[in-house]
Amino acid sequence: MPSLKPYSTFGLSTSCNTVVSFSSANEFIDAYRKFPVSYIVGGGSNSIFLDDFDGALLVNNIKGISHFDTDSHHYISAGAGENWQALVELCMQNGWYGFENLALIPGSVGAAPIQNIGAYGVEINRFIESVIVTMIDTAEQVRLTPSDCQFGYRDSIFKHQLAGKALITQVNFALPKDYQLVTSYGELAVLISPTALDIYNKVIEVRKNKLPDPEVLGNAGSFFKNPVVSSTQFAKLKSTYTDIPGYTVSENETKVPAAWLIDCIGFKGKSYNDVRCHPTQPLVLTNLGNASGDDVRYMATEIINNVRKTFDIDLEPEVRLIGKRGLEAL
Ligand SMILES: Cc1cc2nc3c(=O)[nH]c(=O)nc-3n(C[C@H](O)[C@H](O)[C@H](O)COP(=O)(O)OP(=O)(O)OC[C@H]3O[C@@H](n4cnc5c(N)ncnc54)[C@H](O)[C@@H]3O)c2cc1C
Repeated sequence: MPSLKPYSTFGLSTSCNTVVSFSSANEFIDAYRKFPVSYIVGGGSNSIFLDDFDGALLVNNIKGISHFDTDSHHYISAGAGENWQALVELCMQNGWYGFENLALIPGSVGAAPIQNIGAYGVEINRFIESVIVTMIDTAEQVRLTPSDCQFGYRDSIFKHQLAGKALITQVNFALPKDYQLVTSYGELAVLISPTALDIYNKVIEVRKNKLPDPEVLGNAGSFFKNPVVSSTQFAKLKSTYTDIPGYTVSENETKVPAAWLIDCIGFKGKSYNDVRCHPTQPLVLTNLGNASGDDVRYMATEIINNVRKTFDIDLEPEVRLIGKRGLEAL
């Protein structure tokens, strides 16, 4: 039984029935027909295999990057199996700016639209021109526009109607040449008249200081999404917890940092067996070495229950949890 450890940055010692790597849509369809009970993986940085998975792991290795430009835009197409950070680096080296706030996010290009990756005030959907998918049942190739993709906060159609139905094979990006740099967020606000490269370097510096490197300490980034609550509920919370931070999402909704909630219930730095709530970023759970799937389930459930009890807010995992039979909810 092949180990899943090399295919998930959280690094639990679980296994699957077989591992098949594919480098084209046709190879994927062949593999899928042979192993219909399967799970697609890119970099495995958003997937935690809690148990031995009774199916095949299909590893995306579709490569290729191309570029052309017009007076107004740089157009970049990337195979879904390309590494996201390698693409960002290539763009920065060539002066194709826009991705700088999204530097150092682990994983593949193909997974980026799935949860609409975001960091430092920028989400990838603002640069997506189209997403090319192969429908798993029919092998038909389809081009999806950004509005087809229904992007939201860490969300898209690929987590709903198209979940398990489409393989993303290529993502096409359009980077406007007159793009306004986004510098308002967090640590970037201290930069004075920064260039895109300054932002890129700062994002890398801050991320390296704040987030555990999965090569050194197993983790899958933010374990939970930042919850969005009604403005009425937020006002009520604010009257009890005067320092609770909140970001207005719409007239009626406010986003609350999950890290603050987890810190407030006293879980920052807390461990359960070999799963630890990271001391400098409590939104990240780490694998101290020998964590088990049940340790992850226990720790995550404890956090959810305590946040609910204290704030009446339901935390939702941002990570994908895969059990014996496939995706599972907590
Ligand atoms: C240290 C660290 C920091 C992180 N920081 C951020 C951050 O700042 N912002 C952010 O948004 N995310 C962040 N993440 C989460 C993660 O990096 C992103 O979600 C990333 O896009 C996942 O890519 P992946 O290839 O590793 O996904 P995987 O875990 O391999 O896959 C994720 C999901 O997509 C599916 N999938 C993958 N590829 C395809 C495909 N080609 N077609 C169809 N389905 C597919 C998988 O089946 C799975 O359900 C972080 C993670 C880590 C470990």
